[in-house]
Amino acid sequence: MASLAQLGSKHVAKGVGRFTEMVMTEGKGTYIKTECGRTILDFTCGIGVTNLGHCHPKVTKAAQEQVSTLVHGQVNLGYNKPYLQLIEKLLPVMPHKSLDSFFLWNSGAEAVEASIKLARHATGKQNIIVVQGSYHGRTFGTMALTKSKTIYGAGYAPLMPGVFTTPYPYWHQLGLPHTTSNDDLVENALYRLELLLKQETAPRDTAAILIEPVLGEGGYIPAPKGYLEGLRRICDENGMLLIIDEVQTGFGRTGKYFAIEHYPDVIPDIMVMAKGIANGFPLSGIVSRKELMDKQPAGSQGGTYGGNAVSCAAGVAVQEAFKEEGILENVQARSEELFGMLKELQKDEKIGNCIAEVRGLGLMVGIEFKSPTDRYTPAKSTVPAKMSSRVQNKCLEKDLLTLTTSVYETIRFIPPLNISKEDMAKACDIIKQAITDVVH
Ligand code: PMP
Repeated sequence: MASLAQLGSKHVAKGVGRFTEMVMTEGKGTYIKTECGRTILDFTCGIGVTNLGHCHPKVTKAAQEQVSTLVHGQVNLGYNKPYLQLIEKLLPVMPHKSLDSFFLWNSGAEAVEASIKLARHATGKQNIIVVQGSYHGRTFGTMALTKSKTIYGAGYAPLMPGVFTTPYPYWHQLGLPHTTSNDDLVENALYRLELLLKQETAPRDTAAILIEPVLGEGGYIPAPKGYLEGLRRICDENGMLLIIDEVQTGFGRTGKYFAIEHYPDVIPDIMVMAKGIANGFPLSGIVSRKELMDKQPAGSQGGTYGGNAVSCAAGVAVQEAFKEEGILENVQARSEELFGMLKELQKDEKIGNCIAEVRGLGLMVGIEFKSPTDRYTPAKSTVPAKMSSRVQNKCLEKDLLTLTTSVYETIRFIPPLNISKEDMAKACDIIKQAITDVVH
């Protein structure tokens, strides 16, 4: 009998794209099992989703109970109970008390689209500014907002109009040496945004700036503080809204409940949430001020499945587990271990010469390798080509699943937030060995 993977390669749409042909059959905590009997340490969390590990017992129990109570309590007919219970749990953890009106949806991209609909309706303006390197999804609306790789939009035009791009304060994107100081990057990037508002999209036509506090698919690059503060100021001065996309950074990933808490002076007008909110059950949402949300006519946001009762029940259990299990403290401790190992590696003469940057926040950690084809990397001849995918493949050979990212040579590590010290040590050994194997 042909294996299921063979069936997959024949009958699953090529457009999905896959790193491996493995068939995942089980997930428990930090590990996944495959059809052919491998047990793999998961440093992807299914792209930042299973933040509490696979099949967290409390989340599983809550979902099981809800499945046998009420699966579909359609939200245009009334409230379903877990939807309201989840909002009750989310209210006290919002980064600011002004964020008090919620709309729950299914996926990250849908929630981003909902935030654009809100921004357009609430301001009466149409244009949206995003940063180069951003990722906001692959639906028809979000394709136009995603600027991390052309593959996501190429061949699908015409895309949603009214989207403008400004450079991110990151050396590659500003065409500056990678030794450029953060202050200089911020100043350059804000200047480019001010020019954009003078030359291409006037404030009177611009509804919002949409940004991830840490660029995710765009290379795991935390926004410098001065940049987000600058965006907040420019939005305020020009009657534009600031939309913070916390789809990947939210729910503890960066060591705070939401990454925007690392920037206490920056209060979002709209915040987008998904992924970690329900640890694998499809759920997303936006939150804003009631006064803004209430500008939309009843019935103009939503769809059949949004805020599904089972997903919301899982979401409630996630928020409870956060409180009970000291998740944020664990992120801090494990993050220091992972960063410590990577910074140590940088000190090795040969390996250090191949690394452009080690960066991230909390357990959202990336390494950008130098590339012989990159105009900004010194020591070109000694740096192997395609470092990130070679390291990724080496890690997988050693049973550690990782992800690469963006158009730069970046590999990213997204372990569960409750990973044990032992599993972190095991993964660190594998990463160290994999990089050493590729470089030597
Ligand atoms: N925004 C960000 C920051 C993301 O990382 C993602 C997914 N990687 C999305 C939006 C889209 O979410 P989804 O894949 O659930 O549509």
